[in-house]
Amino acid sequence: MAKKGRVFSGARPTGRQHLGNYLGAIKNYVALQDDYECVYCIVDLHALTTVDTTENLRQNTYEMALDWLAAGIRPEETIMFVQSQVPEVTELHTILSMVTPLGKLTDLPTFKEKVRENPDNINYGLVGYPVLMTADIVLYKSDVVPVGVDQAPHLEFARETVRSFNYRFNTKALIEPQMKNTEIPKVLGIDGVQKMGKSLNNHIELASSPDDTRQRVMQMVTDPQRMKRTDPGNPDVCNVFTMHKIFSSAEEVEMVNAECRRAGIGCVDCKKRFAANLNNSLAPFRAKRDEIGANPDAVWDVLHDGAKRARMIAQKTMDDVREAVQLPR
Ligand code: ADP
Repeated sequence: MAKKGRVFSGARPTGRQHLGNYLGAIKNYVALQDDYECVYCIVDLHALTTVDTTENLRQNTYEMALDWLAAGIRPEETIMFVQSQVPEVTELHTILSMVTPLGKLTDLPTFKEKVRENPDNINYGLVGYPVLMTADIVLYKSDVVPVGVDQAPHLEFARETVRSFNYRFNTKALIEPQMKNTEIPKVLGIDGVQKMGKSLNNHIELASSPDDTRQRVMQMVTDPQRMKRTDPGNPDVCNVFTMHKIFSSAEEVEMVNAECRRAGIGCVDCKKRFAANLNNSLAPFRAKRDEIGANPDAVWDVLHDGAKRARMIAQKTMDDVREAVQLPR
C-alpha cells in the first residue's frame, strides 16, 4: 500500500522507557508505521544539553532502542537510528542558525522552562535546541511530525525557519513539515498528581519484573478523599481507574467503576487487579525484549543500519542546501 508520506519523530535517550513514554509516544510510533514511512531518531546530541542525562548516555541509548523494538518498531521498514551517527545534522544546524533570530529562541516557553530547571547550566546548545530539532526534521525531508501541545511551538518554529531559509536563499531545498496534532494523554505518575517521569521517580518501567511492577502499582495514590475502606470512592479522580480503562477489560472497568462508588471494592483490591492486567499486557513486550536483548550487538546493528539509510537521505538534502547557500560542491 502506498504510504501517506514521511513521519519524523525524535526522543532523547532516557534509558528504559516507562508507561508515560509508551502511552504518550511509542504506541503512536508503532501505529504510524502502517500508514507512513517512519523515521525515528534517538536524539543523543540533544541529551548533551543537560548534564544529568549524559551519564550512561550510550547505555540509555541502547535500552531505549531495545524498548522501541520490543514494543513493535519494525526496523526493516522504519528507519530507527541515533542522531549523532548522521553528522550532517550538525552542519545543517549551523547553517540554519544563521537564519534564526536569537530573540525568537530565548522567547520560547520551553527555553524559559529549561532555564528554570538548569539555572547553573544555561549553555549555548540549550538556546539552539529548537534549531537542532528543526535540522533533524528537515534533514530527512519529513512531511509530518506528530506533536503534543507542549511541542507545538517548536514545530511552528521549525516551519518558520524553513520558510526563512527557502526565502532567503531562493530555494525549495527544505520541506516545510506539517504538524500532526496527536492526542497525547498526560500520563500521571504513581503520585497521581504529576506527569509520570524518571526525574520525579514516579514512573513504572515497561521492562520491570512483574513483582516490581506490582510493588510500584501498590504505591499508586488513589482518590485522596477516600480515607477508609468503607468510604465510597470516586473513580473520576483516581489515576488507578484511568489506567484500568487502558489495561483492563470493559467488564472489569465497569465493575470497578460501580463497586468503587459503593465501597464494594477497596483500593488495595483495585490496584491488585490493575497490576495483574498490566503485567499480562506487558508480558509479550517483556518476552520480546528478553529475546532481542540476548544479543545486544543486533540492537546496535539495527541502529547502524538505520543511520546508513538515514544518511543517504541526509546527504541528498545537504547537497541541495549547499547548492542553495553556495558552499563549494
Ligand atoms: P523528550 O524530551 O525527548 O520528549 P521524554 O522522555 O520527556 O523525552 O519523553 C519522550 C516521549 O514520551 C515524548 O513524546 C513525551 O511526550 C512522552 N512522554 C513522556 N512522559 C510522558 C507522560 N507522563 N505522559 C505522556 N507522555 C509522556
